[in-house]
Amino acid sequence: MVYVRYQHSGKMCEGALLDSDTIEEFEPGSGINGSPMGRAIPLADVRLLPPCEPSKLIIVARNYAEHAKETGSEPPSEPHLHPIPASSVIGHGEAIALPPGIGRVDHEAELVVVIGRRCRSVTEEEALGYVAGYTCGNDVSARDVQWGTPPAFARAKSIDTFSPLGPWLVTDLDPSDLLVECIVSGEVRQSGRTRDMLFPVQRLVMESSRWMTLEPGDCIYTGTPSGITPLKGGDVCEVRIEGIGSLMNPVIVG
Ligand code: MG
Repeated sequence: MVYVRYQHSGKMCEGALLDSDTIEEFEPGSGINGSPMGRAIPLADVRLLPPCEPSKLIIVARNYAEHAKETGSEPPSEPHLHPIPASSVIGHGEAIALPPGIGRVDHEAELVVVIGRRCRSVTEEEALGYVAGYTCGNDVSARDVQWGTPPAFARAKSIDTFSPLGPWLVTDLDPSDLLVECIVSGEVRQSGRTRDMLFPVQRLVMESSRWMTLEPGDCIYTGTPSGITPLKGGDVCEVRIEGIGSLMNPVIVG
């Protein structure tokens, strides 16, 4: 099932994609397991919203060996998890706003895990049972802040608009070997497969839940493949993931 949250006629709505052009609307507030109202809405008539309302995002650093190498780091021996606030989330089509003078800002195309049920201290075997589904994310990163003095990992990634998420959530998807790409203004910059993650989705959910309660809607940004490059005003940044779709965001300065 492909779950969508969207704005239509001034209202926040939710539903499921019937086909590539049509949404079947759910009863208001019914959530991911919602009941269809028997009303079809053209996808072209809505503004897509982020597919969940997280209380927090968990950013996984250096989860692909080739990306660790391009940043001059060793691959980690255990998952590096960095919680950040969810105020940086924007949806499909919204602009990534680069603060003037911020320095280098890179895209990071990532598979995002969306939690479906509250959990704490789950095992790897149980982990996927707590996942609602998957979406595309862009872990936009201000490198001069991240690698500055002092280094500020979380601040570099929690600037307003720096966590694009969407365009929707896919519930029935095997996350173990998906193509993840980043395309900037039509040019492919990143292309990797989730099978090359150092720590798979089950392990990331398990490790995250060891330290904090995961709430429905919470997001785990699972790390980026190699190929990070800087963004500039006027770019259009697309994160495309096999089996999910494309998350597109224009880039502006301001
Ligand atoms: Mg990242």
